[in-house]
Amino acid sequence: MKIVSPAHPSLSRQVVYFCFICLMLSISHSYAAAQETDAALEQQLDKLIGFANYPEDKVTLSTIIAALNESTPVESYARARGYQVLSMALGDNNTAAALALADSFLNLPRIQSSPAATAELLAVKAEIYLQNNNTDKSLELIPAIEQQLETVSSSRTRYYTHTVIGQVLQNNRQFAAALEHFLQAHAAISNTDDVNTHRRRQFLNLQIARIQLSLQNFKAALELLDKTIEDSLKHDLQQRLPELYLNRAYAARELNGLSLEIIDAFLLAAKIGKEQGNQRVELAGYNNAGASLLLLKHYDKAEQYLLRARDIATSIHNITDGTVIDFNLGYIQVLRGNHDAGLNEMLSAAEIFRSFAPASQVAQIQALIADAYEVAGRYSLQAQALKEQIRLKDEFFQSERDKVFSELQIRYQAEENALQIKLLEQQTQLQRKELDNRKLTQRLILLAILLMLVIAALLFFAYISSRKVNQLLSKNNDMLQQQSLHDPLTGLLNRRALQNYMPEERRKITDSHAIFLLDVDHFKHINDVSGHAAGDEILIAVAKRLKALCRSDDLAIRWGGEEFLLVLHHSQAEILPELAKRILHDIGAQPVYIDSNPIRVTLSGGYICLPVKHIAQQSMYWETALKLADHLLYQAKTKGRNQIVGVASLNLDNEQQLLSDQQLLQRLVTDQCTTLTIKGPV
Ligand code: GH3
Ligand code: MG
Ligand code: MG
Repeated sequence: MKIVSPAHPSLSRQVVYFCFICLMLSISHSYAAAQETDAALEQQLDKLIGFANYPEDKVTLSTIIAALNESTPVESYARARGYQVLSMALGDNNTAAALALADSFLNLPRIQSSPAATAELLAVKAEIYLQNNNTDKSLELIPAIEQQLETVSSSRTRYYTHTVIGQVLQNNRQFAAALEHFLQAHAAISNTDDVNTHRRRQFLNLQIARIQLSLQNFKAALELLDKTIEDSLKHDLQQRLPELYLNRAYAARELNGLSLEIIDAFLLAAKIGKEQGNQRVELAGYNNAGASLLLLKHYDKAEQYLLRARDIATSIHNITDGTVIDFNLGYIQVLRGNHDAGLNEMLSAAEIFRSFAPASQVAQIQALIADAYEVAGRYSLQAQALKEQIRLKDEFFQSERDKVFSELQIRYQAEENALQIKLLEQQTQLQRKELDNRKLTQRLILLAILLMLVIAALLFFAYISSRKVNQLLSKNNDMLQQQSLHDPLTGLLNRRALQNYMPEERRKITDSHAIFLLDVDHFKHINDVSGHAAGDEILIAVAKRLKALCRSDDLAIRWGGEEFLLVLHHSQAEILPELAKRILHDIGAQPVYIDSNPIRVTLSGGYICLPVKHIAQQSMYWETALKLADHLLYQAKTKGRNQIVGVASLNLDNEQQLLSDQQLLQRLVTDQCTTLTIKGPV
């Protein structure tokens, strides 16, 4: 039939894995030559088994078995017993008795003490289960065989047991694991070089090629099969050739498409199979040739080979192939126009096929059913069949993917996880760094803010203290100003105050003023009599009395020693005599008490009212006015003291009004003015 193998999703990984295993095995396994064997017996057994699964030559087998005894080396003994069991199970179809016999050998102490012997017989049991399609039972034995194999060094035992395990796993569609065991078997025989080695390598290559076909790696399968066919011809290993040709034809068909050349290849396989009495291969050759001709629409020829194949299938009780052939024959009926009969045949064959075939092959059957429905014009049934095909394909892909790649996936996942963990660690580190940076930045910002606050506070305090200092300074300045303009003894203004009052440009008297220049009479005498301190007290008292006489905007100045100057603002000449009288009275009427001693003080003075009448056009300088007042004071002194002399009027003609200041003073003091004298109290 045309159904060959399931699809496989990732062959490249498989190949990588394959190479990896080859490498590992070539490194790890270099077993010593087999021990516990009888070389002559081994040679006999090699011949006995040949290419078959069990020894067909019962006579020779009986002779060998009869010759076995206690002294037969245990591994050779176990091998011979194994062949005895296989012959019983596969040759005589007496499975139960064969398995019981195998167990009886496995219970022998000498077998139990040898891992190689135990592994051999366990593998024999597994092979029997495998040939009886009891996959579960054969799978169950694998761990025990593998455990024994750990300490087995015999190349042949390792080869045989790994081959059995590989076939069991291949049969269970665990292709990757099966491949691993075939490779182990390969490694076991890698150091041997005899006719058996070539035969065994041929067998292993065939198994590996089958796995590659199952995984749809047709190119690799074709290459391996070509090489194996070449080696087989070189070493005259005829017996596996039909299978090799058969599988090569499968691979070529899948890789290059269907052709008459491929059909010839199938027919060649069938021919050689027939020649060698290998009905299984003969059946497969005709079956595939028939199926391929069917696809090429050579219905008569197709039917011819398929009928031949069905006869063989019936004779060897091959239900699987028989069912497929029935199916294909039904299909030919449909194509020839016998729709009902053909479809019935196809559907009943498909029903049987479904009961044992894997989903991938059922899916292919389903495609042909859909095709047959189309040929018969039953389109809704065709659609249904196609849907079912898609579902089966999905199911197959899913299960295959899960099985074959579970191990690789676990390995990949582990690497992926490790990578992820590494990435996560790096990410965490980065985040930590970022966090640290952010914290550092925050701290720096905080520090900057604190620094700014401190600077602001310092500036504030500096401002406050500087303001205080400034206040103090200005207070101090005020005080100094005060001190510089006042007389420290009496507290009255001093001469400098008057200079401030009449700055340079204002030295001419423009406003109406009256000035009184006053001098204490016989002050020297007071000092002499009462003491200088008493003189100071008297000066203070005089100053106080004079100040009391003044208005707020008048100036009371200590002009020097015991001399005082009063500058009165906006004074009218008429009230000045009266004022002079009050001054003389307030100073002289009451004595000043110094330590309870009354001391009488009198004053003499001169006054002048400015601007002077009749010379209004011509302003007078302060200096001139003061000189005139001093002149009038002098007059008062000379007239007897305790009196004030003032200017009443000036006797000036028009011409004199144009006199210079100096000339004017000259005239005044030479009595060209009328004076008024006010006397103090007696
Ligand atoms: P007259 O009536 O002519 O003005 O005579 P007098 O003694 O007042 O005048 P004189 O100019 O001869 O003397 C003035 C005296 O005043 C001399 C000086 O020692 C004294 N004197 C000047 N300033 C002060 C002062 O501040 N305190 C004291 N106790 N005496 C002073
Ligand atoms: Mg004087
Ligand atoms: Mg005096």
